[in-house]
Amino acid sequence: MCGIFGVYGHRDAAALTQLGLYSLQHRGQESAGIVAVDEGGRARVSRAMGLVSEGFEEAEMMELKGPIAIGHTRYSTAGASAIENAQPILARVRHGHIALAHNGNLTNAVELRRALEDGGAIFSSTMDSEVIVHRIARAQAKSPEARVAEALEGVEGAYCLMVVLDETVVVARDPHGWRPLVVGKLGDGFVFASETCALDIVGATLEREILPGEIVAIDEHGLRSIKGTEGAPVHRCVFEHVYFARPDSKVFGGSVDHSRRALGRQLAKECPSPGADIVFAVPDSSNSAALGYAAQSGIPYELALIRNHYIGRTFIQPTQAGRDAKVKVKYNPVRELLEGKSVVMVDDSIVRGTTTRGLVSLVRAAGAREVHMRVSSAPIISSCYYGIDTPRREELIAAQMTHDELVRHLGVDSLGYLSLDGMLAAMPEGPDGYCHACFSGRYPTAIPLEPELLRAGGGPR
Ligand code: 5GP
Ligand code: MG
Repeated sequence: MCGIFGVYGHRDAAALTQLGLYSLQHRGQESAGIVAVDEGGRARVSRAMGLVSEGFEEAEMMELKGPIAIGHTRYSTAGASAIENAQPILARVRHGHIALAHNGNLTNAVELRRALEDGGAIFSSTMDSEVIVHRIARAQAKSPEARVAEALEGVEGAYCLMVVLDETVVVARDPHGWRPLVVGKLGDGFVFASETCALDIVGATLEREILPGEIVAIDEHGLRSIKGTEGAPVHRCVFEHVYFARPDSKVFGGSVDHSRRALGRQLAKECPSPGADIVFAVPDSSNSAALGYAAQSGIPYELALIRNHYIGRTFIQPTQAGRDAKVKVKYNPVRELLEGKSVVMVDDSIVRGTTTRGLVSLVRAAGAREVHMRVSSAPIISSCYYGIDTPRREELIAAQMTHDELVRHLGVDSLGYLSLDGMLAAMPEGPDGYCHACFSGRYPTAIPLEPELLRAGGGPR
């Protein structure tokens, strides 16, 4: 997963992009970068490993001049976590440059890369996204948006793209619409972002979603759109509402706060906890769902787990040992609220079960009498190939254990997951038009032939 942000037509484009990236930090914490294009058409790039707050020195920001900028926060799903894989990519090509920022995961990147390499292409990263840059460089069409459209023919999987071709910004969203992307207005300029919370931070007003299959170009002549796939079935990622997006965002046109509360209410209906004394969230991702659970059940909501905000998303730790140690560093229970109580712990999802297991033992050690785990999504049983980092089924605990085994393994008194239907019914625009492959195993497209190679970046075998 990743966050992308772009500005066209504002003299502080790079500074606004940096602000936008702060609001998209939750979508990726491995690296951050900005490409800015000045009035003379010169592109400059700054990229660094780590957080947005760490990545850009003031002096460097001063260098990123011009009215056009795009930015990226990265959380790797294809290609290693390393500086050569930081985005945006900036490539010098015949007569100009191509800058590109990508959110999503291409499902046929390995095959596309091989075909390009067979033709002599040289890759400088192991990201799936780099194949798109090569294909744009080769495209023959005249207009920038037609070149991007030509490059995307035969590219499969999930993508939201921000591309700068010389002094034209082109944004594109794949026909399935897995990942969110919006356009807003700021004065005479335009702002593009993965989530609306990034429009808020720069004071832009939301215009609309970029539609699935749409390609939008913007240059000195204004904004133009190619709408490719109207009427085709869409598969927006339900996990954006469950976990990924921020609750102060609207994604796919609906409020994430609303959908999470609805998930929590539905969970309380399907999996009540009679006799429990308090409900609490595993902060922050399940706060809104736990509020919904408390409202529906009438059980008081408490802040029984305190989260250290100077620690990132634990899941992002690449090794199991790193993830284990981080649970304690990240969360501490409030003993005064838990001692002697029967408690409902609400989380949005269980992936590997590592965090959950660690938390249950912390909560018990703090004196809880009974721990009832409630999860505001269905069991995750299948890998995602469209941009969420849950690639191997063997690591998905709900795919490996029965319900009773899970109860024992997690150390809870009871465990309740939301049903797939209940989860989809809580979506703001109704249950249709969502991808739920990670919960149902029903993939809307062909899945990668060589998923491990895709993760590794499709390099030499
Ligand atoms: P687990 O118990 O599976 O180790 O961890 C569950 C926690 O991981 C939940 O609190 C959930 O919010 C979080 N989570 C679920 N999916 C993701 C993801 O894709 N990335 C990150 N960083 N955390 C996730
Ligand atoms: Mg969480």
